[in-house]
Amino acid sequence: MNTASQPLEAIRSRVLVVGAGPVGLMAALRLAQRGIEVRIIEQQPEHRAHSFPVVLHPGSVRLLREAGLEKTLLWRGRSVSRLAVYTEAQRRAVLEAPGGLFTLPQDVLRQALAAALAERGVPVAWNVRLLDLQQDQRLVWGRLQSEGTSRELQSFEADYVIGADGYESTVREALGIKMVEHGPLQTFAFFDAQSGRSGHEAQLVIADAGCCSVYPLQDNISRFSFQISRALGDPLDASAFRELLTARLPWYGQESLRCEAVGVAEFRCALAERLGEGRVWLSGEAAHLIGPLGVDGLNVGLDEANELAERIELALKRPGQPSFGPLYEGKRRRQWLELLGASDQPLLSERSPEWALANAARLVPCLPASGPDLHDFLDQLRLTPRSGRPSASG
Ligand SMILES: Cc1cc2nc3c(=O)[nH]c(=O)nc-3n(C[C@H](O)[C@H](O)[C@H](O)COP(=O)(O)OP(=O)(O)OC[C@H]3O[C@@H](n4cnc5c(N)ncnc54)[C@H](O)[C@@H]3O)c2cc1C
Repeated sequence: MNTASQPLEAIRSRVLVVGAGPVGLMAALRLAQRGIEVRIIEQQPEHRAHSFPVVLHPGSVRLLREAGLEKTLLWRGRSVSRLAVYTEAQRRAVLEAPGGLFTLPQDVLRQALAAALAERGVPVAWNVRLLDLQQDQRLVWGRLQSEGTSRELQSFEADYVIGADGYESTVREALGIKMVEHGPLQTFAFFDAQSGRSGHEAQLVIADAGCCSVYPLQDNISRFSFQISRALGDPLDASAFRELLTARLPWYGQESLRCEAVGVAEFRCALAERLGEGRVWLSGEAAHLIGPLGVDGLNVGLDEANELAERIELALKRPGQPSFGPLYEGKRRRQWLELLGASDQPLLSERSPEWALANAARLVPCLPASGPDLHDFLDQLRLTPRSGRPSASG
């Protein structure tokens, strides 16, 4: 056991990544691929009981290809080439996904990232928890604890820390950063069901009763996600699924869908008041929370991880340059305010169809894309931001 008279042995790395969710793993992999010495810790054991499907945005698909993980996409991913958008039970538009979307089990994504990291000589330190951290202008330091039987304490030092430690981020808490709400709590019910319609098309329904989506997964299973107003404790069984299907997706008609799994969860819409400071930066759910239909938390998180890896590499190679922090903060804050519908640039255009204009605020966070790919979707709906770039069609 460590005591005050036995100084803790400090583990030194250029970068410490806290959290081995998909975002932390991507940050560590991109750093390792840039030749930066990185350590990644995770408070949980390697194998987890539960995994849910993720929808990978076109940007994430490109990023995974760049990171050399294309084989994983082809092995277990299901490609989705278009997204049909419905309002008032009418099929309003079919959007072509620029570069394609994929659905993939989250544990497959995590394992592929962890294996690629291990190949580069960076194993994840499982069962190790960040307790606290401090920083000055030169360094970040703090304490880690093994979660096994020994409960051993260690200290660490790093040039930079990436906080990819999710919803209840210790890194965010250590920086004293609060989450700011940008909308009411939303409740969603999830069902996985076998469906003869499970092709390469996803469907998105924007409705007053609540939005919902259907994404094809592997083995003719589709993931049905419904925004619901009932309490979390109410039973959600196969008959509740049938009821939601009839009310919200009537074109499934009498098709007999075998329901494989059920889940219900609440989602906050919130953004950290700051995305980090000095040598410590947040990415993924540590920095932002949003409803699940657009799957922005994970996908924008992967992009943030990649950006932080790039910026940290430059900062380490050119010490003495101004901090990258304000650039990262400014860009990501603008992006998140747009996704959370809190931007001061309304998505209006006289050329947009009326149904799309009327639903623009609800539509944007539900579209499976961000950045230029989101604007490509909006161009297809003629919903280009007024002061944004001109649409492809002029
Ligand atoms: C109930 C629920 C259902 C969801 N369903 C879906 C879905 O169907 N599809 C989808 O794409 N997304 C879904 N999401 C969202 C998805 O979980 C997140 O977008 C995604 O996991 C975010 O990745 P992340 O890497 O930022 O955070 P996480 O995946 O949460 O990873 C953070 C990691 O940090 C670790 N950690 C935390 N604190 C410490 C510490 N102090 N020291 C060391 N490690 C630490 C955690 O153990 C965790 O492994 C769901 C979320 C919830 C809550």
